[in-house]
Amino acid sequence: MERPPTLSVVVPLYNEEGNVAPLFERVGTILAHLPGNPSHEIVVVNDGSADRTLERIRDEMRRRSDVVLVNLSRNFGHQLAATAGIDTALGDAVILMDGDLQDPPELIEAFVEKWHEGYDVVYAVRRTRKGESLFKVLTARLFYRLVRRMTKVDIPVDTGDFRLMSRRVVEALRRSPERHRFLRGMVSWVGYRQTGVVYDRDERHSGKTKYPFGKMLRFAIDGITSFSDVPLRFASYLGFCSSAIAFIYALIVIGFKLFSAHPPGYTPGWASTIVAVLFLGGVQLIGIGILGEYLGRVYDEVKGRPIYLVSEIERSADSTG
Ligand code: UDP
Ligand code: MG
Repeated sequence: MERPPTLSVVVPLYNEEGNVAPLFERVGTILAHLPGNPSHEIVVVNDGSADRTLERIRDEMRRRSDVVLVNLSRNFGHQLAATAGIDTALGDAVILMDGDLQDPPELIEAFVEKWHEGYDVVYAVRRTRKGESLFKVLTARLFYRLVRRMTKVDIPVDTGDFRLMSRRVVEALRRSPERHRFLRGMVSWVGYRQTGVVYDRDERHSGKTKYPFGKMLRFAIDGITSFSDVPLRFASYLGFCSSAIAFIYALIVIGFKLFSAHPPGYTPGWASTIVAVLFLGGVQLIGIGILGEYLGRVYDEVKGRPIYLVSEIERSADSTG
């Protein structure tokens, strides 16, 4: 067996047929022109695409010798597809990037430079985001700041999964078998020396986002629940507050009863009853809902199923030599 490559570029792909060729073109060019000409592999994960993504990848494999294809058994979602790629990559440094060219491959050079300076993680910080709806940009901004406030892990704001990780960071991730993965949080949690590089996020090269609102929301909830128990405590705080209010209200009602006067705005009783019932009902449902979110995740983890299934792994170098 040959020596492992110095760099691995990992790209999850889901229905990206229009992006495969330009992706290899641009990433290939960058890798070929890196100072010192490090050996490399491009690990593409086909995340159960329903279009011609797999054919496009196989086309590239006939032309290039640096491609590793990880074909998953079905669609597992971005974070698990990325995990499958990271697990397969052999490089001393692993670079994770999106396959739609929103993450400019040109940044790889800056990543590698920082890595040579001794950093274990170099992440890309988005200064601007082109071609994305105002709604997405605003919710993303809000989300990153919320996560930062709610967790004890120092997760950098406005940072996606586009980053370089050293071998020891990759090994730490491989030892974290959790299923509801929030990779950017997990990488921060690992520690070591981390730094950021600022860039402007491009538009998608082709196709449209694979993160509609529903998936984005799930991802956000995964991010918060896997790094924070603040929502659980929030439920109990809310419970305490409403009980305190109810207690004070009860004292007032009893007081009026004893001194046989009517409270201001008195009507025979149902308005206040309804308000109390609705309020307490709401608080309880919120509490149960939050418990459910965590319990569901515990249940998923306890089942201990593999987090993704590989259908096949192919290396383009195999066929050429
Ligand atoms: N992706 C994936 N599986 C999925 C959804 C997305 O592998 O179920 C990939 C997708 O092909 C892309 C990356 O994850 O390479 C980021 O997805 P997208 O560009 O749709 O997200 P956005 O940039 O809109 O947040
Ligand atoms: Mg994108």
